[in-house]
Amino acid sequence: MNKLGVHALVWEAGWSEDECARAIARTAEVGFDFIEAPALDPSLIDPVFTRRQLEAAGIGINFSLGLSFDSDISSGDADKRRRGRQKLEDAVAVCRDCGGEFIGGILYSVFGKYDRPPTADGIAQSAETLGAVAEIAARSGITLVLEVVNRYETNICNTAAQGVEMVRRVGAPNVKVHLDVYHMNIEESDIAAALADTGEYLGYFHTGDSHRGYLGSGTIDLAQVFRALVRMKYQGPITFESFSSRVVGQPLEGILGIWRNLWEDSHDLASHALMYTKAQLKAAQEAERQARERSRLPV
Ligand code: MN
Repeated sequence: MNKLGVHALVWEAGWSEDECARAIARTAEVGFDFIEAPALDPSLIDPVFTRRQLEAAGIGINFSLGLSFDSDISSGDADKRRRGRQKLEDAVAVCRDCGGEFIGGILYSVFGKYDRPPTADGIAQSAETLGAVAEIAARSGITLVLEVVNRYETNICNTAAQGVEMVRRVGAPNVKVHLDVYHMNIEESDIAAALADTGEYLGYFHTGDSHRGYLGSGTIDLAQVFRALVRMKYQGPITFESFSSRVVGQPLEGILGIWRNLWEDSHDLASHALMYTKAQLKAAQEAERQARERSRLPV
């Protein structure tokens, strides 16, 4: 069974005590299994307080982040790489202390618009650092998932195939691919085929729609996406991600280009997304069963 989660930015822009408590309580109230909290700066998260809220609400947590130009582990600058590695290790510590299992996002390079393609050396540096951080993460049962995002948000992993290649280069059992349908819709030739090709390398999945608003209100053929996930027997976490200028503040607003107000009511958006995801998964499972069991001749 896939655990279903929601991104904290559906609720709150930050992670102060009040924001953390509200976001966790609302996630549980709607019925999600976990919340995904952004950890762009892991030092802003109080793990003791966060864990207490999670335990009271009875839900889990995962984290996501991206590196900055100043902490890019694919950089030729050793100081930047050192800061990046430190940030990743800090995120692992926060995740461990909060009881989380996954850290996703752009862990391999800059979360931002790069002005040049990656170099072979940069990719090798990134893979080496990720391997070292993965060893530390493994001691706490944490999996690092490398999010494949579109060309305007990073420069190493823009397609699922590149994500698989990067994961193979890191070569650690607790490093997997993190795919996001919003980004796949921009970069892949065939979303269902890209999912099938990723296969067992897939460790984490983000749903959303073409404009990152209400799930199902954009142009992505989500029924085909959920069928592909069910067909490949994907059992990992699925997080709903949606951004509106109603909640998102800087720096994410600027990096992601959140200029429009796509929704007002977080609760309505999140409840609908959970219902929609469950319905899509159920429909996809029934479609599989039709093919396997119910379309046979009697014996
Ligand atoms: Mn995403």
